[in-house]
Amino acid sequence: MIKENLENIKSQIPDNVTLVAVSKTKPVADLQEAYNAGQRVFGENKIQEMVDKYDALPKDIKWHMIGHLQSNKVKYMAHFVDLIHGIDKFSTLKEINKQAKKHNRVINCLLQVKIAKEDTKFGLSFSDIEEILNSPEFTSLENIKVVGFMGMATFTNNQKQLQEEFSSLKTFFDKHKALPDTANCKLKTLSMGMSGDFKLAIKEGSTMIRVGSSIFGNRNYN
Ligand SMILES: *Cc1c(COP(=O)(O)O)cnc(C)c1O
Repeated sequence: MIKENLENIKSQIPDNVTLVAVSKTKPVADLQEAYNAGQRVFGENKIQEMVDKYDALPKDIKWHMIGHLQSNKVKYMAHFVDLIHGIDKFSTLKEINKQAKKHNRVINCLLQVKIAKEDTKFGLSFSDIEEILNSPEFTSLENIKVVGFMGMATFTNNQKQLQEEFSSLKTFFDKHKALPDTANCKLKTLSMGMSGDFKLAIKEGSTMIRVGSSIFGNRNYN
């Protein structure tokens, strides 16, 4: 099933869109099955779970941290994480920089933008992001690179609302992408779209989708 699900999703997305297989809560055997079907990019939302899976699985997997981050745990993934999606505080960026430096790495990061109308979703406002990117302190962080933005739309079936939320993020992304790159900000990735809304997100300009249940089935949190 996992193989068929992956093939089905890949047939619906253009080549320039990266598929992140969101494997949170799923056993290593399921990830191995996706790996055997050719999948190499996996997303997890808990650092400890990602570390355990990293230890158990082939080393050519690219691990994306998509969850809300606790700064004190960044150190456990700093040696291998490929991309961190959910950064919503400047202090987290500083912590990632500090831990990346210890491993002599530059860690790619996405700033999470709050596009949903719900109160429950984390994220920075557009003006918070501009403040961060323009601050001299940000420029001094040599071991991180901001490569794009991530957004989560409201949990709704209202297509018009989803479309507006995605499109507002795309407009903001394009505006900043048009500015010259700096040493640690080179925008190329726009992470938006999940199982329920990835087609719309791609239509609105997403370059990276995070798909879990449509690949691995529903999650059981018990
Ligand atoms: C769980 C999760 C996903 C995947 O959700 P599905 O609806 O199962 O595709 C995507 N993004 C984030 C940030 C998640 O936490």
